[in-house]
Amino acid sequence: MRVFCAVLGHETNSFSPIPTNRDSFAETVLLRPDGGQLSHLIPLMGVKTIVDTAKSLGCEVILSTIAFAQPSAPTVKKDYEILRDEILEDLKDFTGTGPVDMVFLVLHGAMMAQGYDDCEGDLLQRARLIVGPDCAVGVLLDLHCNITEAMLDNATIIMACREYPHVDFDERAGELFEQIHAVARHEIKPTTAQYRVPMLSIFHTPRQPMRSFVDRARSFEDDSSKSQTTVLQVTLAHGFPWSDFPGAGASVLVTTDDDPVGATELAEQLGREFFALRDQGTEPTLSIEEALDAAGALLADTPTGTVVMSDGSDNSGGGAASDSTFLIRACLERGLADVAVALLWDPVAVEMAFAAGEGAVLNMRIGGKVGPLSGDPLDLEVKIVKLTEGKRHQLWTAEQLVPLGRTALVETGGVQIVLNDLRQQPMHPSAFLEAGCDPWSKRLVIVKSSQHFYANFEPQAAAIVYCDAPGSMNGNVFERPYRRITRPVWPLDDIEL
Ligand SMILES: [Zn+2]
Repeated sequence: MRVFCAVLGHETNSFSPIPTNRDSFAETVLLRPDGGQLSHLIPLMGVKTIVDTAKSLGCEVILSTIAFAQPSAPTVKKDYEILRDEILEDLKDFTGTGPVDMVFLVLHGAMMAQGYDDCEGDLLQRARLIVGPDCAVGVLLDLHCNITEAMLDNATIIMACREYPHVDFDERAGELFEQIHAVARHEIKPTTAQYRVPMLSIFHTPRQPMRSFVDRARSFEDDSSKSQTTVLQVTLAHGFPWSDFPGAGASVLVTTDDDPVGATELAEQLGREFFALRDQGTEPTLSIEEALDAAGALLADTPTGTVVMSDGSDNSGGGAASDSTFLIRACLERGLADVAVALLWDPVAVEMAFAAGEGAVLNMRIGGKVGPLSGDPLDLEVKIVKLTEGKRHQLWTAEQLVPLGRTALVETGGVQIVLNDLRQQPMHPSAFLEAGCDPWSKRLVIVKSSQHFYANFEPQAAAIVYCDAPGSMNGNVFERPYRRITRPVWPLDDIEL
C-alpha cells in the first residue's frame, strides 16, 4: 500500500502576545522530506509510530513536512500558506505516481492563521480534493482541539489523544493506523457523529471524575456489546478555549462501523455526561497569595520534600510569553528560600549572563518584557551560577528529547531561576537538571507549565499546587476579551443541555 504522512501543528492562542511565522516552526521543528531516510524523526505526536508501522507492513511511505511550533498568536498568512502548500504539492506529486491508499495528517486541531480560522479544515478540504472521496484519510489531533465541520467532512477518521498530560499519542497513533488500514482494505466503513458540548474549560485526566469518564468513554471501544454497535473510536475533544473563533469549544466524536444512528446516540450520551462534570473536571486553582500560603502549610507539615507549583498562566505551551514575574516577585517579597523556577524565557538576560560569565555577580533586569500580562520586570542583583548551551530536555518519554536553548541559572536571595532563550515549558525535571539546578534539593519548585509537567514531576513531588497568577493563560474565562466565540457557552453563560 502507498501511504502519505505529514505533520502541521500549532495551538493558536488568539490572545497571545507572541507572533507566529515560519521561523517559529523552525525554532521547534520544521523538517522537509530528506530522501526517505527519516533519520531525525523524533517520536513527536505519534508520527513515528505511524511511519514505523506502515514500513513494517511493507508499505511505500512518503513523509512530507513535519512542522510544529510552540503555541502563540495566529500564524502569518503567507507563511501558513507556504507550509500548507508544501504538503499539498508533495501529496499531488505522490498521487501523480500511483494511487494513494492512506493519508495520515498529524495536526493539532486548534490552528488559526491570519485569514484562516480553521487551518486544519482548510488543509483537509484541499487534501481531499487531491486524493478523491474514497481515499482513507486519518487525522490525529491533540485533545485541545476545536473540531469543525470542514474537518469532519474531509477526514475518514479523526482521533485525538485521550490524556492530559498527553502521554498517549503513540498509542492513539497505533489505533488510528490500524483503523485507517482496515478502511483501505475495505474491511470497515467508518461513520462519525459529533456532539458539540458548549463549554470552555480545561480538564485534567489523571484526577477524578475525568479519570473515570475517560475510561468509560474508552470502554465503548473495547466492548461493543455496551452500545449494540461496533464503536471504532471515541474522542473527547476538550477544545482550546483561547482560540477566539466560532468553532471553539468541546465536543465528543463517536465513530462506528457503518451505524450513523448508533454513533449519534452515543455521542450525545457521552456529550451530556461530559457537560455534567464541567465544574469538577479541573483541579482548583489558587491566587498567588493563597498558593504560597498553601505551599507554606504543606512544607511546614513535611520536614523534607518538594512542593511543585504550576504557574500555568505563563505556560508557553498554551501561548503565554513565559517571562512573567508575578509569582517570582511574591516569593522574593516573602523572603522565601530554597525556591527554583523554570523556564523563564528572556533572551536578552541570557545574552548578558553569557557576557558576564559563570560566577559573576551583576545587576540584571529579568522578565516582564513582552507585555502587561508578563508583569513588571525584576531588577535584581544576581549571581550567574551556571551557563549551558546545546543541552536537551525531555518531554513525556525518554525518547522525546528537545533542545533547551542556551540557559543561564541565576540566583538571588534564596531563589534560583532558569533563564533560557528558546520559549518552551518544563515538562520534565531535566529542564532544571540540564541547566544545573536539582529541583529536588529545593523546597518549592515553580514550573511555567499548566499540566504537562504533571506526568514526570508528580511521582517525586510532596504535593502539587496550581496557582492562577495573571497572564496570557490565566484560567479566568471572564477576563478574556472574546469577540467571536459562539454563545451561549459555559461558564460565560448559565446553560442547561
Ligand atoms: Zn494539548
